Amino acid sequence: MQQTSRTAFRKILIANRGEIALRIMRTCRALGIASVAVYSDADADAPHTCFADEAVRIGPAPSSESYLNGACIVETAQRMGCDAIHPGYGFLSENAAFAEACTAAGMVFIGPSPAAIRQMGSKRAARQLVAAAGVPTVPGYDGEQQSVAHLHAEMLRIGFPVLIKASAGGGGKGMRVVRAESEVDEALAGARREAEKSFGDGTLLLEKFIEQARHVEIQIFGDAHGNLVHLFERDCSLQRRHQKIIEESPAPAVSPELRAAMGAAAVKIGEAIGYVNAGTVEFILDRDGAFYFIEVNTRLQVEHPVTEMVTGLDLVQLQIAVAEGQPLPFAQTDLHVHGHAIEARLYAEDPRNDFLPATGTLHEWTLPEGSAGLRIDAGVERGSEVGIYYDPLLAKLIAHSADRAEALRKLCYGLRRLSVQGVTTNRDFLVRLLDSAGFRNGQATTGFIGENLAALLADDRAELELASAIAVILQLQQQGQAGDALARELPPGYRNNPFRNPSLKLLMGEREQEFVWRWLSENAVEFLLPNTTVRAVLLAHNDNQVRLAIDGVQRSFTITNADEQFYVHSSLGSCTLRKLSRYPEHQTTAEAGSANSPMPGQVLKILVEAGQQVARGEALLILEAMKMEHTMRAAVDGIVEAILVKPGAVVAPGEVLIHVKPT
Ligand code: ADP
Ligand code: ADP
Ligand code: MG
Repeated sequence: MQQTSRTAFRKILIANRGEIALRIMRTCRALGIASVAVYSDADADAPHTCFADEAVRIGPAPSSESYLNGACIVETAQRMGCDAIHPGYGFLSENAAFAEACTAAGMVFIGPSPAAIRQMGSKRAARQLVAAAGVPTVPGYDGEQQSVAHLHAEMLRIGFPVLIKASAGGGGKGMRVVRAESEVDEALAGARREAEKSFGDGTLLLEKFIEQARHVEIQIFGDAHGNLVHLFERDCSLQRRHQKIIEESPAPAVSPELRAAMGAAAVKIGEAIGYVNAGTVEFILDRDGAFYFIEVNTRLQVEHPVTEMVTGLDLVQLQIAVAEGQPLPFAQTDLHVHGHAIEARLYAEDPRNDFLPATGTLHEWTLPEGSAGLRIDAGVERGSEVGIYYDPLLAKLIAHSADRAEALRKLCYGLRRLSVQGVTTNRDFLVRLLDSAGFRNGQATTGFIGENLAALLADDRAELELASAIAVILQLQQQGQAGDALARELPPGYRNNPFRNPSLKLLMGEREQEFVWRWLSENAVEFLLPNTTVRAVLLAHNDNQVRLAIDGVQRSFTITNADEQFYVHSSLGSCTLRKLSRYPEHQTTAEAGSANSPMPGQVLKILVEAGQQVARGEALLILEAMKMEHTMRAAVDGIVEAILVKPGAVVAPGEVLIHVKPT
């Protein structure tokens, strides 16, 4: 019936970058809709720029001058003759003024109404609306009073632990868990500063921090004809920095009755807002099975693919159809969950360094070739630069199978086979997380990563490092670059000095090891290790691959050589090695008391002065990367001897920022 009046979009501008821009463009292409990419100077040859039918530069690298420049994006869409703009997630996706500007310029914003965005953009207003609709919210404070004294008093009333949130917040920013009264003032100041900086609004909200909880969210979808359904739940409990890294559907802790109750609550909230298009209602589920509303995300969610895989729907296609004015093509009772889907987010970040973002060049990037039911939404390619300007999400791997155990197995295998080199990632951490007993048995809560951090970081790399080192050495030998080059040309045993075996010193992580070997035949080598020997047979080799049998087990090793490093990937995992000279290298180790930058970033605030006495653990400086704050603390008791940076300085990882002389 709507068919006569509806418009079919012919061209859409995608106001985003990375994996989500590509993902939206793929659906556009499938539907026969032309796509226009926008890009910053940092993305001039990025995958999303090249994949689109047309691409337009919108400004320099910083998001504030490019992907957040709504006026320029709207003008570009108009100039390119677009019918609609898809904002993706992040950036302008939850910006009501941008949605309005699209409409004012005669284009359709693919998302909910500006009013719904505005209403839900304030967590305070959202809580109030939801409570009025009769859905429980977390006990807390969402009032007008914002003075430190008042918030302090409210925290005592709520009782610790308390979670401070930025009312305008998102992406885990501006959140602080406060466990004792002594932490209150520093936490409030930090949360307010981060909120003002990230969202231009320092309004805070307090909630009881619910421990051992699960994050369970409901995908909702509404159309312009008054239909609103839910597409079941996702469990996103596995988080670091209050940000999700693993998501799945169905949720292990949700019974059919609970699913129905949470789904009904989400639909009720959606109806109270008059919600149109895709949205997500987030809840906290406590140990006793009670659920509390936390927020509505008025956009497509990062983890939407798990819902797509269990429902068989394409949510971007639905978003476009609804934006065109079509009614939803199904009713609630038509929707069913098929099997189980789990997503893992692969980030450029270092789990051993507080999960801070990592940067660098992706010297190697090879995706495991398609296993049925393994979907990979990537935003990068081999050679991509991962910089400090944008979110460090590299790719999402999503596995779908008949049941949870099979999906989990498929996802782990896919992650293990993915070869990513040159940038530190959370890949190994994800594999250990998925492999952990706590996750496998479906018991993991939002505290799981924090509580099991040591075990999840523990990594026995001995076998991986040894095999990778052997692979590198044998490849170097083939190229005449290792050991005694001459030895390779001479028959085994025939040497000027039979007592001197070839050797090579390698750096593996923090550890140096000297390898000594002797040739047993044309391709067989024996490595003489401190307490044992290992035999390796070279089976085949080319420029970037060697195939070896080590103690009888055959494996292929892919070796990428860049920046004086050897990046090795095999079925054992990934490993970075460096060839060292025989002579001790000049070490640039940091002095005991100096504070080195743990990540590339910008100095936000210096909290001490030269000559000041500081105690171990005292805050020295606040560093910021991607609008996340990181407080650097004194490693020793001492005196601040020198401050080597100024606020606003852009610093590199490892750079010394403040010298503290131990006392
Ligand atoms: P979700 O709630 O969708 O699961 P998160 O809240 O963990 O996802 O992460 C989404 C957040 O990532 C956004 O709110 C935003 O802060 C940030 N972000 C912004 N732009 C991008 C982008 N292009 N790619 C990835 N993340 C982005
Ligand atoms: P954001 O907008 O940054 O996504 P949320 O309000 O959704 O902020 O909170 C982020 C995460 O923090 C949630 O996914 C949840 O795991 C955790 N969280 C939020 N509120 C609470 C709470 N009251 N108690 C315990 N954990 C919470
Ligand atoms: Mg959230």
